[in-house]
Amino acid sequence: MTPLDSLALSRGTVDRLTEQRTDTAWLDAAWADPGTRVLVVSDGQALARIDDDERGQAALVFVPPRQAPEGTRFLLGRDDADGTVYFGVSAPLPDAPPGTRPAALREVGTLLGDRDAGLLTHAVALANWHDTHTHCPVDGTPTVPGPGGHFTVCPKDGTEHFPRTDPAVIMLVTDPDDRCLLARNAAWPGRRVSILAGFVEPGESVEQAVIREVAEETHIKVTNVRYVGSQPWPMPRSLMLGFRAEAPAGQDIAVDLEEIAEAYWFSRDELLAAIEAREIALPPPVSIARQIIEQWYGGPLPSTWPERR
Ligand SMILES: [Zn+2]
Repeated sequence: MTPLDSLALSRGTVDRLTEQRTDTAWLDAAWADPGTRVLVVSDGQALARIDDDERGQAALVFVPPRQAPEGTRFLLGRDDADGTVYFGVSAPLPDAPPGTRPAALREVGTLLGDRDAGLLTHAVALANWHDTHTHCPVDGTPTVPGPGGHFTVCPKDGTEHFPRTDPAVIMLVTDPDDRCLLARNAAWPGRRVSILAGFVEPGESVEQAVIREVAEETHIKVTNVRYVGSQPWPMPRSLMLGFRAEAPAGQDIAVDLEEIAEAYWFSRDELLAAIEAREIALPPPVSIARQIIEQWYGGPLPSTWPERR
């Protein structure tokens, strides 16, 4: 099995500087440094310069600290290649310079370079958390971000609160003929299909979650659950944990009809033919689902699922 080496949102390169997050003197000096760069994020988007030619590359737009808007600030890290320190600020986006526009991870995740893909993923995840976790869960008091922005503190009882990440499993199931199981979610329009996925429940292992979710959604029992790779998916706060699993022979698919509308086995030839006939459409390359499907297929597949903008 080839490794999942092209996970768009798992490419971050900056040092996260976890030691410096609570060092207020260091943080103040870094913010005062005109060479520091700030990424402003709002509602999952940041400004980016996007080449609309065939190469399709993108780069984030940063501002120096003195030009950054007021908002919740957090340290993202330092690029050790050139020493630049990066912060994120959750605030309304500044006016877009010519040639730039707001963009979300789904659109530019595969177009950004490694450093920028990691910075945007990290910043969106932290901003989403700050935006939705504003009060102490113990007593309801509004919390205050701690230095560095990687935790909040309740001023009433002093409790500290840390960013949330929800683990989700996503799995490609094969039968004894090495056909793969693809399903259409009842909430998805038209021809979209993907592999099965679901959230890990409290008190459950990821392997148990894989077995439970496949059985719930298709009545297929799987064995030999193997981890293949992970990708953060901060929309709003998931960590996608990728797996392969095997379905022993002699089982019939029975979808739940609530979450899954239909599910079928596809050989590699059948999959390519169905895509080319536009009978089905796979998830976009930015998703771990697409990468796991192409890993099984043995190479790239045509794209037909329109990317959301
Ligand atoms: Zn409290």
